[in-house]
Amino acid sequence: MNDKTAVAPSNFIRHIIDEDIKNNKNQGKVKTRFPPEPNGYLHIGHAKSICLNFGLAKDYQGVCNLRFDDTNPEKEDMEYVDSIKEDVTWLGFKWFEDVKYSSDYFDKLYQYAIDLIKDGKAYVCSLSPEQAREYRGSLTEPGKDSPYRSRTIEENLELFEKMKQGKFDEGEHVLRAKIDMASGNMNMRDPIIYRIRKEAHHQTGNQWCIYPMYDYTHCISDALEGITHSVCTLEFEDHRPLYDWFLDQIDIDCHPQQIEFARLNLNYTVTSKRKLKQLVDENIVNGWDDPRMPTISGFRRRGYTPASIRDFSERTGVTKVDGIVDMSLLEFCIREDLEHHAARTMCVIRPLKVIIDNYEEDKIEKLSAPKHPKNTDMGNRSLIMEKEIYIDHQDFTEDPPPKYKRLTTGKEIRLRNSYVIKCESVVKDEQGNITELHCSYDPETLGKNPEGRKVQGVIHWVSANHSHVAVVKEYDRLFTVEKPDGQNQDFLSFYNPNSLVEHTSARIEPDLIKAQVGENFQFEREGYFVKDKDSSDELPVFNRTVTLRDNWEKKPDNKDAKPRRRRG
Ligand code: ATP
Ligand code: MG
Repeated sequence: MNDKTAVAPSNFIRHIIDEDIKNNKNQGKVKTRFPPEPNGYLHIGHAKSICLNFGLAKDYQGVCNLRFDDTNPEKEDMEYVDSIKEDVTWLGFKWFEDVKYSSDYFDKLYQYAIDLIKDGKAYVCSLSPEQAREYRGSLTEPGKDSPYRSRTIEENLELFEKMKQGKFDEGEHVLRAKIDMASGNMNMRDPIIYRIRKEAHHQTGNQWCIYPMYDYTHCISDALEGITHSVCTLEFEDHRPLYDWFLDQIDIDCHPQQIEFARLNLNYTVTSKRKLKQLVDENIVNGWDDPRMPTISGFRRRGYTPASIRDFSERTGVTKVDGIVDMSLLEFCIREDLEHHAARTMCVIRPLKVIIDNYEEDKIEKLSAPKHPKNTDMGNRSLIMEKEIYIDHQDFTEDPPPKYKRLTTGKEIRLRNSYVIKCESVVKDEQGNITELHCSYDPETLGKNPEGRKVQGVIHWVSANHSHVAVVKEYDRLFTVEKPDGQNQDFLSFYNPNSLVEHTSARIEPDLIKAQVGENFQFEREGYFVKDKDSSDELPVFNRTVTLRDNWEKKPDNKDAKPRRRRG
């Protein structure tokens, strides 16, 4: 067995690489790249591509480049470049050498274009965009040769030079490859190589006013970097002949292999930078890193860990067939991870004051509870018990259903890590809303069961005077249907107005005020939460990463899919 054979779960790309290594293709080396266009923040689909490309390089002792595919100056921005670098690093990967840019190769790409013209394989075309569309034909009809296809090499060289010098307006001329206007593959019908764009570029400034097209740039950039396996998504399958054509025509002794795999799609969200940008631009969400966004930065802010996203990428596999992955798989991955390392704490999200009548006035007891039920290395936290405490409104009802395991009048309940209390009476305001409970406690029940009776249920609580106020944000699916962009209706009309619920008077254990931004916790009985960057010293903000169990159930008709809450 070759020592470079990978140990990770196999897939068809690994089979190709294993075979290449066996045949000593590329001297047995593996070099991949992740080539984002800096026109938005990365989403979960990109995370998959990052894990795949960097993962292959790692497992085969190769390297992976981070290359910005920056050929569209009008849509690109340094903010995106920076966010992408941050996201790749956060996911736990290191790119080879310095970051690369396709724009690093603009001089070389221009030179290769001149070579193509000199070889009679490229020409300057002066059809208007409308005419060009007409000449292009359709899927069922062949295209027609442009009348400019027969321009002489000299004329082409001169016009191309003038295009570069800025002598023409945008759209006046383009440089096209001379391939085959009758090809069954539309991509091969004399595709554009260069177009005029009088836009400043984030890397090259005003140096250029002609910019190379993606298909031309991508394959040559791959070859110039010595990439061995150029992994991309399925929609580029029909572009592969063009990828190969360019590399066959130009004088370069590297020919990477393009390999396509199925995009990752996630239900109840959209994975298209354009649509995500629309959500941001129209202020439907609060920025690219809004915790409801399927962006890497959104997941980070939501409390997802790099390990959980890498695990998710692995579990979704690498295939040739497009499909939609269920959001609950991602949620499963983060629960798996946080279960092991998130410290436990109690937070009362909807506080209801409880007065323990037989508890001594001014008495304070310091109680202790483990930070993790299994991992004793994490140590303990201290809790304060006193006469006035808060429990969650949702943990009390006067009208309990059968087998109710929370607090109700005349019944006992265990306060987690503390005593057993019994509800004696209820105080209401003029509108009949419950404002306070009067309870009694059994002093003999700290750390032990009461004698001769069984207490059903445990609820969480915090002390009233030694807890802190916090903001708690609960998030839900961003859209109400599984495929918001697969319908014949604007995807925005499926926005879930309940995707963010904010609780501004939650109460947290005293220790939690010291939490760091980005620190993960389990709020017992509620879910996993993370401290948000919008926190101040006085008012911490916590985002709900995920509930403790999968609460999301869909009705048979997806259109009516709604979250259904089950609380234990
Ligand atoms: P979008 O459609 O969101 O704009 P894109 O493909 O245009 O995405 P790029 O910046 O060009 O975005 O993508 C960088 C790399 O990530 C490409 O190799 C692309 O194939 C890959 N990628 C993009 N979306 C997905 C996805 N949903 N699943 C897997 N890989 C993806
Ligand atoms: Mg793209």
